[in-house]
Amino acid sequence: MASNLKDNLNAILQSIDDASAQFARNEKPLLLAVSKTKPASMIKDLYDAGHRHFGENYVQELEQKAAELAEPCPDIRWHYIGTVQTNKIPKLVAIENLYCVEGLSSMKHCSTFQNEVAKRGRSLRVLVQMNSSEEEQKGGGNSAECIEMANYVSSECPNLQFTGFMTIGSFDRDPNEFNPDFDALYQLRDKWCEQAGKPVADYSLSMGMSNDFVQAIKQGSTEVRVGSSLFGARVYT
Ligand SMILES: *Cc1c(COP(=O)(O)O)cnc(C)c1O
Repeated sequence: MASNLKDNLNAILQSIDDASAQFARNEKPLLLAVSKTKPASMIKDLYDAGHRHFGENYVQELEQKAAELAEPCPDIRWHYIGTVQTNKIPKLVAIENLYCVEGLSSMKHCSTFQNEVAKRGRSLRVLVQMNSSEEEQKGGGNSAECIEMANYVSSECPNLQFTGFMTIGSFDRDPNEFNPDFDALYQLRDKWCEQAGKPVADYSLSMGMSNDFVQAIKQGSTEVRVGSSLFGARVYT
């Protein structure tokens, strides 16, 4: 199992390298290992192999794993991915080693995160989530709402570091074709940076998952979130 996992990690890192070389990206996209439903032991194996960034999207599961791994994996960098329920924000923000929240989805979210992070005297990286496919069940805002959130976080939320945008996108896209969701996110960052007078290179684009991360890199992704092709298919009980 463990050696399989390392082989998967190396294969994915290699594809990321190849894709960024092929599409002339200066900076290699970050690999976020999405470990939801997978045991802490697998996370520790990847940590021991040198990997640091892990993504989870259930607060309670993240809480348990963060506690269990705090000692063996002191440098671990947890990313919360997706839209969190507002009432769970205090619990989420209390997690040690929480490195980044990828999924601010409303103005209410932004102010609650700011208040909770400030209470703890901390600072937290955040990405604003775009619902680029405009699906009812997905979190995030449209382009105008995302710009409003980005403005608010960068000017009114001193304890939050605005670091970019993320999208999940429609699962119906062809993974090897130009993806309109990735394009919408790319355009959003351009638009916000131009309005705010900020350099595009300072802001990340979190997009691309197991089946389409190469296409996402082709379209400018700076962070890919890979779960099943790294850890194996998820089993929900
Ligand atoms: C589960 C999840 C992923 C990983 O999906 P895979 O297809 O298993 O790579 C990426 N992003 C988010 C927000 C997720 O919830």
